[in-house]
Amino acid sequence: MEVILLRYTPDPELTVAAAARLCYSPDQVDELLTDLTLDKARKLIAKLKQMGHFSPFEHASFTFGISGVSRSLSHQLVRHRIASYSQQSQRYVAFKQLPVVVPPSVAANAEAQAKFDEAITAIESAYLQLLGLVPAEDARYLLPNACQTNLVMTMNARSLHNFFTLRCCTRAQWEIRELAWRILDLVQEVAPSIFADAGPNCWSAIGCQEGAMSCGNPPRRQDHKGR
Ligand SMILES: Cc1cc2nc3c(=O)[nH]c(=O)nc-3n(C[C@H](O)[C@H](O)[C@H](O)COP(=O)(O)OP(=O)(O)OC[C@H]3O[C@@H](n4cnc5c(N)ncnc54)[C@H](O)[C@@H]3O)c2cc1C
Repeated sequence: MEVILLRYTPDPELTVAAAARLCYSPDQVDELLTDLTLDKARKLIAKLKQMGHFSPFEHASFTFGISGVSRSLSHQLVRHRIASYSQQSQRYVAFKQLPVVVPPSVAANAEAQAKFDEAITAIESAYLQLLGLVPAEDARYLLPNACQTNLVMTMNARSLHNFFTLRCCTRAQWEIRELAWRILDLVQEVAPSIFADAGPNCWSAIGCQEGAMSCGNPPRRQDHKGR
């Protein structure tokens, strides 16, 4: 899996704070950034979180390049509706060989790995034969969840917070959990005050909401890395 931060709203913390300032001051729009230092912006962002005033966080967006993930992951990812996606097409891109993601549990078990390889080889062979008989858009019906895919995803900071709450949790599936942690690392670097407290619920005052399904682990970052 490779994840890179392709682009993001310039000065995301100032942008969120300027939007919040509009709500609470008589300033005209051309004055919103006047005297707004990073320090002031960060204090305002902390206040917004305390108040539960989250809409200003929608003004900072982050665009990621994500490659080498499975179709199993991408199917879960696109369930996050407050985001924009562009995904490599299996209709227009015909594969000469099938790049796949091998789950760690399969890689750690020789018998499972052998069965996995056997099935992928059979699918690959049938897929390549079908490509000679029918359009790629129909040959792709054979392709498995393990197939690698590439995406560009844009999400705003509010939606990212929701994404981290759900997908950094140990209850999330391993591959999307790894993606969530990698994305969190990237955005914390460029917008620390916005994402300082981001992560699974057990990290925040809310606490774990998983009930009987809780992992029971103490809320420490390394317990949730999944990698
Ligand atoms: C551990 C785990 C297991 C899961 N298992 C399953 C499963 O078995 N089957 C399955 O189908 N999905 C499953 N999901 C997916 C889950 O149900 C959500 O679809 C996914 O996590 C996206 O979350 P979201 O709706 O909060 O995000 P977004 O779609 O980004 O929405 C963000 C927020 O906007 C609001 N919102 C968005 N759209 C609407 C709307 N139409 N109406 C009202 N409010 C809206 C909600 O407050 C929502 O939380 C699972 C997710 C996790 C984390």
